[in-house]
Amino acid sequence: MRKPIIYADHAATTPLSHAARDAMRPYLEDYFGNPSTLYSLAREPRKAVSDARKTIANTIGAEPSEIYFTSGGTEADNWAIKGTALQCASKKKHIITSTIEHHAVLHPCEFLQDMGWDITFLPVDSKGIVSAKALEESLREDTALVSVMLANNEIGTIEPIQELAAIAHAKGALFHTDGVQAVGHIPVDVRKLGVDMLSSSAHKFNGPKGVGFLYIRQGLKIIPLLHGGGQEAGMRSGTENVAGIIGMAAALSEHTTKLQEEAAYLESLRNRLITDLKQSQLDFLINGAENHIPGSISLSFKNAEGEMFLHRLDLMGIAIATGSACNSKETETSHVIKAIHIPSDYANGTIRITLGMDNDTHQVNLIVEGIKKILSYREAG
Ligand code: PLP
Repeated sequence: MRKPIIYADHAATTPLSHAARDAMRPYLEDYFGNPSTLYSLAREPRKAVSDARKTIANTIGAEPSEIYFTSGGTEADNWAIKGTALQCASKKKHIITSTIEHHAVLHPCEFLQDMGWDITFLPVDSKGIVSAKALEESLREDTALVSVMLANNEIGTIEPIQELAAIAHAKGALFHTDGVQAVGHIPVDVRKLGVDMLSSSAHKFNGPKGVGFLYIRQGLKIIPLLHGGGQEAGMRSGTENVAGIIGMAAALSEHTTKLQEEAAYLESLRNRLITDLKQSQLDFLINGAENHIPGSISLSFKNAEGEMFLHRLDLMGIAIATGSACNSKETETSHVIKAIHIPSDYANGTIRITLGMDNDTHQVNLIVEGIKKILSYREAG
């Protein structure tokens, strides 16, 4: 397969950083011991997993004992939701989430709905923001959990989690946030946010695929989904993905030291792309909120097809997304674009460009030129 010349789909996944790759290598080769065994070969991987847990806890303001390693964001989201439901089932039967969550949250909620749980899907405004008032009105005595994402994967909108978590707690409900698009990109402090659980995934911040973590606040009990050898303090059995965990910690700590610098760079690229497109007199809408993930761009072009952009840009060596990349088989308008009520003559022409530190101004110019060329072909045709 030809490698895209310009990769602008960092919300789907990111390339492995050199720091992560170098940190992982010894644990794939020399220190391959199973951390649960007792001989000396296991000592080094066991210590490295413990150090990684401390590093990760530090970056989000948690204690190491509050970090549970998982196979990624999907498992962390499923665990937070189903684990809470199993724990609370005898007393509570209601969960609140939003209409713009990732399917890793929506589908477990729909699964619980089929099992007899009551699920409320909160609407969002035109920028994709969940209203605090709507949450307040939906909370009930039997609400076990509220799950609202920290940042949306399609339009980049950052949600007012601190405010929403406080409202949920005032009514006795727990609060989970899907932090998959946020961790490693914006400052995240679980105590400041006031959340009980937070999901994260390494491959969104230049770590390896197939590894992530769930933060579970000290003292909170949820039911494990994976039973077996009792790893992760008995909460998530299965031999640890040692190299993956170490790569995740290395990637996250590298981003954490440069968050502001990276955000400034990505926003300068984003502004340039949008300004250049505006100067070209193209008819398009910019989706999402002012407060968004740095470098995240969702645009809806009038009377266009997102998929046409994707395939034609691909032929030019440019990788972007339409709708949600995690759900790329779907060709109909994504649930997020529907939820923010983009007018129908713009909705089909929605594309997502998510920039990363490996992009530069020259590449942004080529993306803009590519979009202009595609639209001018269409006019000519
Ligand atoms: N949550 C959000 C917001 C995501 O963007 C994704 C992946 O795109 C996931 C969850 C799933 O994470 P993973 O790919 O690690 O399973």
